Amino acid sequence: MKINVIGGGPAGLYFALLMKARAGRHEIAVFERNPPDATFGWGVVFSDKTLSYLRDSDEPTYSEITRAFATWDNVDVVHRDERVTIRGNKFSGIARIKLLNILQARCEELGVALRFREEVADVELLRDCDLLVGADGVNSATRERYRERFEPSLSVRANKYVWYGTRRLFHGLTLTFREDAAGVFAAHSYKFDAETSTFIVECDAETWRAADFAAMSDGETRAYLGGVFSRDLGGHELLSNNSRWINFLLVRNARWQFENVALLGDALHTAHFSIGSGTKLALEDSIALARAFDETRGVTAALAEFERARKPVVEEYQRAAYESLVWFEHMKDYVHLAPLPFAFSLMTRSKKVTYENLRRRDPAFVAAYEAERMKSERGTMR
Ligand SMILES: Cc1cc2nc3c(=O)[nH]c(=O)nc-3n(C[C@H](O)[C@H](O)[C@H](O)COP(=O)(O)OP(=O)(O)OC[C@H]3O[C@@H](n4cnc5c(N)ncnc54)[C@H](O)[C@@H]3O)c2cc1C
Repeated sequence: MKINVIGGGPAGLYFALLMKARAGRHEIAVFERNPPDATFGWGVVFSDKTLSYLRDSDEPTYSEITRAFATWDNVDVVHRDERVTIRGNKFSGIARIKLLNILQARCEELGVALRFREEVADVELLRDCDLLVGADGVNSATRERYRERFEPSLSVRANKYVWYGTRRLFHGLTLTFREDAAGVFAAHSYKFDAETSTFIVECDAETWRAADFAAMSDGETRAYLGGVFSRDLGGHELLSNNSRWINFLLVRNARWQFENVALLGDALHTAHFSIGSGTKLALEDSIALARAFDETRGVTAALAEFERARKPVVEEYQRAAYESLVWFEHMKDYVHLAPLPFAFSLMTRSKKVTYENLRRRDPAFVAAYEAERMKSERGTMR
């Protein structure tokens, strides 16, 4: 088969290497507008530690990726200067550039043609192949070009967020909440290698306007947020990497494929970063599409099978991610809670983690939460 892939992010690279590993005679090219060593953003986190789906799909990339992982099992919630630790939540982090370099190296080893610095301006020009894959990210030109076929629904969410790095090491996924005169700020932070953490700051549109970020330079914004989170950053500054405020774009598509074209990864669906699943979903999409070719005959049947098998799984993740996104959009309604009930509300926000789940994961946390609840109920009865 001749396969053209637009976009050399996790989804495009992984799909290309999986197909090439299946049959060396496939002619596969990945078109990526950036050079191989360019990446925007810092580390990504995977919401599960075992990643058996990667091991079963391609052992060499699995070994390389897990060797580079920072892993942990705690979520720390910092509210009103108090830290509540919840154990039993398995996560692993990796620098995005490291992940891409591992996938690029494996593509090259297998003989995938990696065409860096090639921006695809007219997607249709690459249609002349057996399969065209649009793995071109959240602002996908492929999705746009064939919008009548995919029927996307795009929702620009109200909150603003910006993706920074810092040399301050946050062990475990640390969710920190701070208030100033402008409003409430949340930081999502985690260490992803020996020296660096990701530090994403999120706030609602009202807070963003009140702080007047529109009038601030990058340096001024970092200085302001460095002040908001000064007790958490321990003297370390926030580091920028083309970092700018954005609104989360929630992407869904009514149809996932037509004729010889399919979408993968963020081009197809997004899941709010607070549940740490965007990269995992992108890689799993690639596995599902490659498997669909094993299980069927011909491109039409494989694409239909991909959509049939994968769509319900993704929709369930999107439902959980949506609840999480909405919680962060309303975080100012929760900050009146004391640290333990606040942490409980945060941990159960996606509805995927129930009271019972949480008790199994960390009985001590649930017992402390219950004790506090009883105490406050007794207080209100008196
Ligand atoms: C602030 C933030 C934090 C995040 N944190 C996490 C996290 O902790 N964990 C997690 O799993 N995920 C996280 N994500 C999501 C994650 O980055 C994406 O879900 C993941 O990268 C999707 O992979 P992809 O390959 O589909 O798309 P991308 O990684 O976006 O790759 C698309 C590629 O296509 C290229 N491209 C686009 N258009 C063209 C064109 N016309 N021609 C050529 N090339 C093109 C781009 O340059 C890019 O390299 C986060 C996202 C954001 C914004």
